[in-house]
Amino acid sequence: MRCSQCGATDLEPGWLPEWGQDGGYTRWVAGALKLGVLGRAKIFRRKKLTVSAFRCQRCSHLELFAG
Ligand SMILES: [Zn+2]
Repeated sequence: MRCSQCGATDLEPGWLPEWGQDGGYTRWVAGALKLGVLGRAKIFRRKKLTVSAFRCQRCSHLELFAG
């Protein structure tokens, strides 16, 4: 794996927590963001994937991967 900003190959694996809801981790959801009447995102029947975040140890850029 290579940083898309500086080309370094020493990327540190990690993930993005989401403290407000259910399991506490950020997911990628297919399609455009649509909000319900209470202001919450509609995610029913959407494809959802876990998000991995790799941090470049040279320039701090994050590379995100879903699934
Ligand atoms: Zn970098």
